[in-house]
Amino acid sequence: MTQMLEMPRVQDCSVTGCGYNHDGCHAFAITIGLGNSQCDTFFDSADKGGLDTASAQVGACKRTECRHNEGLECHASAITVAPGLDAADCQTFTMA
Ligand code: SF4
Repeated sequence: MTQMLEMPRVQDCSVTGCGYNHDGCHAFAITIGLGNSQCDTFFDSADKGGLDTASAQVGACKRTECRHNEGLECHASAITVAPGLDAADCQTFTMA
């Protein structure tokens, strides 16, 4: 039997220069990477794409130091992404 996992929503992303951002994140799922919890899905582009709806989820997260990270998956209820030390950083990151 396949277990359905509820992935955290990207509740808000203010990185308007990203190709997936047009009134919110339109990627199906994003990956949060190392550094300053940067969004590895960020794509600096004027071309806009992704799904029809802004319903992105966190598919994977490499920040094992975050209190919401268990087994390389995010267990926060939702996250926000905004410019930080990188062009697009997870603002919900909390050091464990
Ligand atoms: S809240 Fe923590 S675990 Fe979730 S995506 Fe952000 S950095 Fe990763």
